[in-house]
Amino acid sequence: MSLLINDQRCNGCRTCELACSFHHGGSFSPERSSIKVTSDSREGKVQLKVDATCDLCAAEPEPLCILHCFTGALEKGR
Ligand code: SF4
Ligand code: SF4
Repeated sequence: MSLLINDQRCNGCRTCELACSFHHGGSFSPERSSIKVTSDSREGKVQLKVDATCDLCAAEPEPLCILHCFTGALEKGR
């Protein structure tokens, strides 16, 4: 399984960062997130990046970032 990212659908809400940090540490601390959301306020572009600490939510029934993203910017790949 992989994580498919569609920046174009992201609204920059950063809920995925909170969900990911909860997976890693049981608390809401975006600095512990494997997924990072950045936005360019001048151009209005949002960019998503996932680093090597992502374990695809091992031991969770579903990847938490996908579960809590309501725009469809994150999806499961093969
Ligand atoms: S990927 Fe989804 S949850 Fe994360 S910032 Fe974008 S819209 Fe929000
Ligand atoms: S799949 Fe899990 S570990 Fe990977 S970015 Fe999403 S929430 Fe974080």
